[in-house]
Amino acid sequence: MFSSRVFHERIRKDFFRRLFPVLFSVVLGGFPAFFASGGEPVPLPDFSGVRTMELLTAQCDLGTRIPGSEGNRQLREMILDLARKHGFTTQVLCFEATDPMTDQPVQVCNIIVSSGPEEGQRLWLGAHYDTRPVCDRDPDPELRSTPLTGANDGASGVAVLLHLMEILGANPPPQGVDFLFFDGEDSGLAGDPSGFCLGSRQLAATCRDFGNPLSQGTPRGLIVLDMVGKKNLQIPMEAYSLVNAPEWTETVFDRAAQLGLAAFVPLQGPGVYDDHVPFLEMGIPAVDLIDFDFPQWHTTGDTPEICSAVSLAEVGRLMLDLIYNP
Ligand SMILES: [Zn+2]
Repeated sequence: MFSSRVFHERIRKDFFRRLFPVLFSVVLGGFPAFFASGGEPVPLPDFSGVRTMELLTAQCDLGTRIPGSEGNRQLREMILDLARKHGFTTQVLCFEATDPMTDQPVQVCNIIVSSGPEEGQRLWLGAHYDTRPVCDRDPDPELRSTPLTGANDGASGVAVLLHLMEILGANPPPQGVDFLFFDGEDSGLAGDPSGFCLGSRQLAATCRDFGNPLSQGTPRGLIVLDMVGKKNLQIPMEAYSLVNAPEWTETVFDRAAQLGLAAFVPLQGPGVYDDHVPFLEMGIPAVDLIDFDFPQWHTTGDTPEICSAVSLAEVGRLMLDLIYNP
């Protein structure tokens, strides 16, 4: 994703034209095993942080996953293999873009995995599976051309989605769930937002086109998971989400509070240009769950060692509750 004060000012102006009243409630809760917003609560399947760490490490073992790379292709196959194993519908949507760093053409491929009933409301869960080509914020100048490992920035969100797919395969969900794996999120040049979020922009712009698997109506909401794996995870209410999709953002954070998940902080955080923004611009409710207070961001320090099964499990439990108690 991209973050800069100048850009925030610019996008804020656009977004404030469509400013909604910003309200949120803080609900304190214990640690119930299940929760429902209405009707009978449904016991949740277990979400394993340990298994999610395995899925995170397996991605990092592929090496760089920059668009067009062998690691990117192998991860795409890993995602598709897992989806097919559980009988889910898959679609790979590729397009040619210009690589912002090399100025060369590159193929960018979004993946959509659809599960659950075809009828009724749907939930969209997204994460970017590509990684940044360079560690351009590394404290050591000699390491700044090294490709990012992307344990937290990339693999963490994807790992949560992959483990959710395993759980949904064994426990059919009561609502349709579409998993959106974005490519080309993180190849932009620092200081220029136009090179970031290439895949999500393309998918948001085409999601209502005939034949697109996402074209069947507006979803209940999109949740983007980005940088959700670090130890001592603290996820505030990302500002663009809160301003442009206040009800959906509050729904997600209220549920986290009722589950007693300490990683979720129901206070407004910074605005980050991430994969949710193109969908907000299309009028689709979207919330970005991101801990942007991340010292290893775009450095060689973004490795599995700084990630935590405990953090991943908190995020996974919230997703399970939103899926099974719609
Ligand atoms: Zn990044």
